[in-house]
Amino acid sequence: MILSKLFGFLGKDMAMDLGTANTLIYIKGKGVVLNEPSVVAIQRDSGKPVAVGHQAKEYLGRTNPSILASRPLKDGVIADFDLTRVMIKEFISQVRRAAGLVKPRMLIGVPTGVTQVEKRAVIESAEQAGARDIYLIEEPMAAAIGAGLPIEKPRGSMIVDIGGGTTEVAVISMYATAYSESVRVAGDEATEAIMRHTQRKYQMLIGENTAEMVKISIGSAYPLEQPLSMEVSGKDLVQGIPRTVTLNDEEVREAMSEPVEVIVESVRRAFEKTPPELASDVAEQGLVLAGGGALIRGLDRLITQELNLKVRIAEDPLTSVVMGAGIALQNIKQYRQVFIN
Ligand code: ADP
Ligand code: MG
Repeated sequence: MILSKLFGFLGKDMAMDLGTANTLIYIKGKGVVLNEPSVVAIQRDSGKPVAVGHQAKEYLGRTNPSILASRPLKDGVIADFDLTRVMIKEFISQVRRAAGLVKPRMLIGVPTGVTQVEKRAVIESAEQAGARDIYLIEEPMAAAIGAGLPIEKPRGSMIVDIGGGTTEVAVISMYATAYSESVRVAGDEATEAIMRHTQRKYQMLIGENTAEMVKISIGSAYPLEQPLSMEVSGKDLVQGIPRTVTLNDEEVREAMSEPVEVIVESVRRAFEKTPPELASDVAEQGLVLAGGGALIRGLDRLITQELNLKVRIAEDPLTSVVMGAGIALQNIKQYRQVFIN
């Protein structure tokens, strides 16, 4: 009895954003203590983890045959349950060790539309990693809280969370989701479009990490005021020898335009399907962009131009979900109603 009270006291609260591209963990009183790519590398024969996060991401596309590196949540669903479990356990254990947490209470953000089976897998993994009292929250809800939207008010707030694998659009009012849609097109599709572009135009293959760097360095959704360009190295498709080309912002924007348009269309659809009172609130307040995709240059301008809606980018879009989950965990009485299990 006394012991369990003591343990309860030691067990600080933890919030986790289990994203398709990045996993973040927040500890009450400490802030964000872990921010790593959602990548895991295991020994192929024994299944033992050899690396998670940044180190495992380095292995992507350059593994030796005895190591398997993968992104188990790549398309917004749990593609590989075993690897997802291994990854979650590793991340939670790292944080528990570093922070000396005994049995943390946990709130975990999951994409809208995860299945019961996926939810159970997430909860079990967290339990096996030593967490107790595990709650789940939908990512757009957490992102809206993290971005400071007034979700408690009888007013429509629109959040567009553009991650790696999925774009989640939601309209929230009085702690409830009035509309939500999860589209399997987001940042990764933009990266892949750049890979296809260099292949088609220059007959050159580039890796995923290189293409992502191009997207972040010179990618855009709307014409830029200052031109940007970048040298990129890859492999000649025909001769198999190393090659370097210089890419400019215009061709990269064109290459990314298809996924960008799918994202804009998902916002248009959300607005059309939102009940009129809430839609007029959104028209008045504007919408908020969160997730790494919110950082695509000029995406806010493009949405404003095409849909005639005001757009704000969340202050730190890559941490909106974990911060929102952290806020919800700290004010559990108020926010318990938004937990989904
Ligand atoms: P998830 O929630 O799915 O883990 P994140 O919100 O962490 O995804 O966003 C990851 C995506 O954002 C990746 O596709 C990444 O390439 C992209 N991204 C990150 N920073 C930028 C940037 N500055 N410009 C454009 N895209 C970015
Ligand atoms: Mg996310």
